[in-house]
Amino acid sequence: MDSMIKLHDLQFVPFIAENEIQTAIDSVADRLNKDLSDKNPLFIGVLNGAFMFVSEVVKRFKFDCEVSFIKLASYQGTETTNQVNKLIGLDRDISGRTVVVLEDIVDTGNTITALSEVFKDQGCEDVKIATLFFKPEAYTKKIKIDYFGIEIPNKFIVGYGLDYNGLGRNLTDVYQLKSSYNMTNLVLFGPPGAGKGTQAEVLKQKYDLVHISTGDVFRYNIKNATELGTLAKSYIDKGQLVPDEVTINMLNAEVDKNPQAQGFIFDGFPRTEAQAASLQELLTSKGSEVSAMVALEVDDEVLVQRLLERGKTSGRPDDADEGVIRNRIKVYYDETAILKNYYQKQHKYFGVDGVGGIDEITDRLSAVIDEL
Ligand code: 5GP
Ligand code: MG
Repeated sequence: MDSMIKLHDLQFVPFIAENEIQTAIDSVADRLNKDLSDKNPLFIGVLNGAFMFVSEVVKRFKFDCEVSFIKLASYQGTETTNQVNKLIGLDRDISGRTVVVLEDIVDTGNTITALSEVFKDQGCEDVKIATLFFKPEAYTKKIKIDYFGIEIPNKFIVGYGLDYNGLGRNLTDVYQLKSSYNMTNLVLFGPPGAGKGTQAEVLKQKYDLVHISTGDVFRYNIKNATELGTLAKSYIDKGQLVPDEVTINMLNAEVDKNPQAQGFIFDGFPRTEAQAASLQELLTSKGSEVSAMVALEVDDEVLVQRLLERGKTSGRPDDADEGVIRNRIKVYYDETAILKNYYQKQHKYFGVDGVGGIDEITDRLSAVIDEL
């Protein structure tokens, strides 16, 4: 089964494999064979979606039967329009017959309810409903679904006859709409020396996230003289701050480069409340949101010792001087306090104890992420 697929503007992920569908159809067909062996049933497939299901059911039916199709549509795009259109194609006398309506999927139940009424009005002896998929959470009607293959949650699916705006009917497996609300978007914080870089790397692997370090994004854009990089450089060269709008546009481009991402780790951004609001806006425009601000918490004295230790070997001048180190830590807390407050109000702030082994800290971070 392919991993992710794209139809028009939307992404879909694998949901139900063909063999599972076949097993479900076997079971529907077994029951039909048992119940209707002497009824010469008229199978009426609802086009277009049910064409594959009809073919599979009819192939398995071992007794006399007839097959016909009707057409109607109650669906446009991915949202039910709550209205069943005109029925086309019922060109035979069905009075006295046992009719089996074959549907690809029953969602609200509007379609089968309307059909069942029409068929009964025309004097059918019995109307049975058989559907390959059934969404119990979406079902609002009373009439009994006599046979269903697979119950599914209230998600939009494609494949095995079902389409999204015309595409996807030919897929032999079923896919479900990938909702971007499932993305895990983390804003990662940690004072200098807390091991943020190490943890970002681990989380990226573990959760299949894309790590967006603002520093790296700037360097990349400037080095490659992208339009935004050149613009950013013009501010930097004048000794001015790069406007948030430029930064957010660069981040936007990074997000767009990774349409299949399970989520992002933002590192180095936001720094201010205004930036946090811009990030929120950016993710909202992608149908997503910031899931959490995760901050590694390490006692100042531990940080100072760690950085001084690192300074002995790293050669980074800002790791060698205790005064400089303490100031960097202070700047971090001054900046972070605003964002901590911002995300706390949204119940999205999570402080994580950053003292311990790498695995131990990863476990603590994972406990937070797994709960999101
Ligand atoms: P109902 O009348 O029960 O709300 O909807 C029935 C029809 O809506 C189905 O025959 C199908 O055409 C369409 N439909 C409902 N749910 C889905 C879905 O998840 N995917 C697709 N592609 N069509 C659906
Ligand atoms: Mg249909």
